[in-house]
Amino acid sequence: MQNKNVHEQFENMDKLSEECGVFGIYDFDGGDVASTIYYGLFALQHRGQESCGIAVSDTKGPKGKVLSYKGMGLVNEVFTPENVDIDAMKGDIGVGHVRYSTAGSSTRENAQPLVINYVKGTLALAHNGNLINAIELRKELEYTGAIFQTTIDTEVIAYYIARERLNSKTVEEAVGRAMDKIKGAYSLIVMSPRKLIGARDPLGFKPLCIGKRENAYIITSETCALETIGAEYVRDILPGEIVTITPEGGIQSDTSHCLKKEEQARCVFEYIYFSRPDSHIDGVGVFQSRMQAGRFLAIDSPVEADVVVGVPESGNAAAQGYALEAGIPYGTAFVKNGYVGRTFIKPKQSNRESSVRIKLNAMKEVVNGKRVIMIDDSIVRGTTSDRIVGMLKEAGAKEVHVRISSPPFLWPCYFGTDVPAREQLIAYNRSVEEICQVIGADSLAYLKIERLKEIVNNLDICSGCFTGKYPLEPPKEDIRGEYQK
Ligand code: SF4
Repeated sequence: MQNKNVHEQFENMDKLSEECGVFGIYDFDGGDVASTIYYGLFALQHRGQESCGIAVSDTKGPKGKVLSYKGMGLVNEVFTPENVDIDAMKGDIGVGHVRYSTAGSSTRENAQPLVINYVKGTLALAHNGNLINAIELRKELEYTGAIFQTTIDTEVIAYYIARERLNSKTVEEAVGRAMDKIKGAYSLIVMSPRKLIGARDPLGFKPLCIGKRENAYIITSETCALETIGAEYVRDILPGEIVTITPEGGIQSDTSHCLKKEEQARCVFEYIYFSRPDSHIDGVGVFQSRMQAGRFLAIDSPVEADVVVGVPESGNAAAQGYALEAGIPYGTAFVKNGYVGRTFIKPKQSNRESSVRIKLNAMKEVVNGKRVIMIDDSIVRGTTSDRIVGMLKEAGAKEVHVRISSPPFLWPCYFGTDVPAREQLIAYNRSVEEICQVIGADSLAYLKIERLKEIVNNLDICSGCFTGKYPLEPPKEDIRGEYQK
C-alpha cells in the first residue's frame, strides 16, 4: 500500500519520473568515500525518490568485502544516524544510487547498488535505464541455473558480467561482452575490488559523466553532482564507451561499442524536464536548452499578454526564454512547497485541501487583472493542468494562455521513463483545441517537433514518445512497471 501512495504522490502533479541517478568514486589517495557519495546522491535526488543506497570497498583490503546500506525513501531519510553510521563505512572506492521504479517493483530488495559475490570477488552495480530485452535474457539465464533475488534489470546485467568474467582477462572486457547481449537504455557504474568502471549504452539515452577532485575520480549521472562535492568536470562518457578508472592507468577508454553519431539517441526529455537546470549533458546546458524552447514558443506561437510565468521548476527557464524573445515581462506567479517527503499524508477526496494546492499556490499580486502566458514543460495525463489554470484565474488573471515546452506525448516510453500507455495520455485522440478546452485555457500551443533537435544544438536524440518512431524496436511484451499499464 505504501508503494501505491508513493506513486500517487508523484502522479498528483501529473509529472513524469526519471528512473535513477548513479554516482561512483575512487579516491587514489585512499580516503573514505561514503560521505562524498551521500552528498552526490543528495544532488541527484530529483532523479529518484523511492529508494537509495551506498556500497563501498577498500581496494587495499580483502577482495570480497563490501560494506553497503540501502533503504526506502529519500537520501536524508535512509542515511540517518539511527539507521547507519556513515563514517564507519570505510572504503576508498564506492557506488551510490537513487531510484524510482519503472521496471521491477518498489521494494527494498530492488534498491541499488546491487552487490554480488562470485568466484572473482565482489561486484557492486548502479544502473540507470531500462533494458528492452531483460525478460528474454532473464529466462535464458534461469534455464541455465540462475536464481534471481530481485526483479530489476540490473541483476541480469550483473549475471552476464559475472559469467563473462570467467572467460575474460579483465572485468571491463566482461562488461563489454555483457553489452553485446543487453539492449536498451543504460548508464552503468560497476565497482570491482580494484576498479571503477562506467559504461553508457551505444545510443546514449541516459547521461553519464566523469569528474575529478584532487586525486579522486568520479563517474555520475549529472554534472550538478560534481559541483556539489567540489569536483571539476572532466568530460562526458561517450554513448557506447566503457571507461575504466585505476591508479595505474588513470582513465582508460574502450570505444569499440560506439556507433556512428547519427545513430545516437539521447533522451530529449533529460533536457526538457528530468535533469537539473545547472547540469550540462554532452556539451549542452540544460538551462540553455529550456530557455531556447521558450524562445521558440514565443516565435512559433505568439500571443499578446502582460506577463509570462513558469510552472516551477522546469517551466521557469522556458518562461524566461519566452519573455526575453517576446519582450513581455517575466513574473514569478507560483510559490512551490517542496517539502513533500515520502511519508507525507495525501489528502483524502473528502478533504478540502487539494494535493495540487498543497504543492503550488498562485500569487495574486503578479497575475491579478493581467493577461498571463503560463509555460509548463509537458502535459501527461492532464489531471492537474486544469487546476493550475484555474488557480491563476481565481487569483484574478483575465486570460491564461498555456505554452508547453515539449511536443504532445502520444506514445509510451520503454527506455526508463514512465510515459504511460497511449490511452492515458491527454493528447491521444484529442486535438490541441480539445485539450485547451479540457484544461480551461484561453489558448494552448506546444513546442513543434522540428524544434526538438534545435534546442539541444543538433545533438542526435530519441523522440519516440512524441513521434512513435523509436531508435530501438520496442519490446513485444510490456516491460513497464505494473502501475503504468
Ligand atoms: S521515448 Fe521519450 S522519454 Fe523515452 S527515451 Fe525517448 S525521448 Fe526519452
